[in-house]
Amino acid sequence: MGFLTVGEGNPRPDRRAVLTRALGVAAAGLTGGALAMGVAGPAAASARANQADWRFCSKCSGMFFRGYADDGTCPAGGGHDSAGYNFNLPHDVPATSRAQRDWRFCSKCYGLFFHGYPTSSGVCPAGGGGHALAGYDFVLPHDIPQTANTQRDWRFCRKCYGLFFWGYPTNGSCPAGGGHFAAGYDFVLPYL
Ligand SMILES: [Zn+2]
Ligand SMILES: [Zn+2]
Ligand SMILES: [Zn+2]
Repeated sequence: MGFLTVGEGNPRPDRRAVLTRALGVAAAGLTGGALAMGVAGPAAASARANQADWRFCSKCSGMFFRGYADDGTCPAGGGHDSAGYNFNLPHDVPATSRAQRDWRFCSKCYGLFFHGYPTSSGVCPAGGGGHALAGYDFVLPHDIPQTANTQRDWRFCRKCYGLFFWGYPTNGSCPAGGGHFAAGYDFVLPYL
């Protein structure tokens, strides 16, 4: 339940710390022989990583990627508005009984949504039916203890297939209408 207390009192992230960490990861990748191995090699080496710049949207309560110049399309209108933690989500690692794969970035709305169903990709606030996947295959930890650098209460919305924060009394704004509807696992997500 840390968004209001920690997010407002102690704004995150410290951009310098994040940058330093990012540079450190890049340097480690290079010394690991990624350059020498050419284009084919790094896929295996660099695939086991996390991607930062995933943020809570204070308007729709959804998770969206803030790594681009614009803020995508928010079901509450306009672009998403980031608040709170800078989530650092694992991708392209093996799924386990406590980590679910098939969570993808939507190139239309910038939200994170579940692509694990064969017949539907949910409801996208940018229109045109469902979400459109792009990029990494995120593997989200769930139903594990919350620690100092993780936050629980992130849930799948069975109406829009998006991931949203369920730790507030309200359920945000769902592109399928009304608020989001929590179902399934309790995701516990790492942040910087
Ligand atoms: Zn939003
Ligand atoms: Zn979408
Ligand atoms: Zn929803």
